[in-house]
Amino acid sequence: MSITKTDFMRGMQCRKMLWLDKHKQSLKVIPLEVQQVLNAGNDFGDRAMAMFGDYEEMTVYRPGTTFPDTKAMIVKTQEHLEMGTPVICEAAFSNYNNYCAVDILRKTETGYNIYEVKNASQVYDQFVRDVGFQYYIVDRCKVKIDKIFIVTHGPDEENPFVINDVTQQAKGYAKWVNDNIWDLNRMQKQTEEYQVEPGEQCERPYRCWYYGYCHERCRQEI
Ligand code: SF4
Repeated sequence: MSITKTDFMRGMQCRKMLWLDKHKQSLKVIPLEVQQVLNAGNDFGDRAMAMFGDYEEMTVYRPGTTFPDTKAMIVKTQEHLEMGTPVICEAAFSNYNNYCAVDILRKTETGYNIYEVKNASQVYDQFVRDVGFQYYIVDRCKVKIDKIFIVTHGPDEENPFVINDVTQQAKGYAKWVNDNIWDLNRMQKQTEEYQVEPGEQCERPYRCWYYGYCHERCRQEI
């Protein structure tokens, strides 16, 4: 079991949330409106791939499924880095089995820039932490990253993409990632259910999909 970007962000909201993802995922309840937001985000991300013109997409699926074949994606990404492909989408990287896929990598004169696409009208701190995790992994894979951007939704369809420079803040989160990623790796493997009392983390920054499970158990224990 490794830590992906999603695992890391969920584990940092609440370690129990990550443990439940790994051991009792069937308890997860994703509200319809949240699923619709996630789907809209995927559509926006797909459109953003072409924002710099021609691109190469690294997504590879396991045969007969819609599950990504991350090992094949990592190999394909490496091939395109070696070829000097100017724009690589869903570029996949792994370091000690910790994994991330970068929405857009764009070649510069000295390395690459990272673009993380978010279907939102402004940049929130959790977006910067998210791309900080990607920087941590990619940097350890010896790819030189110059600048880091978050692409948000523009005011209208004439201007669909706004590029926000978050280089300094995102690179600044590398130590925070390193301080937590190994503990999350250890914790997610434990067989006994990880215990956390419900609290503010159940709603921030996102309402937890195990809210019903944890709060119902709390009520039963009172
Ligand atoms: S409901 Fe709260 S305590 Fe339970 S997993 Fe989610 S965030 Fe953690």
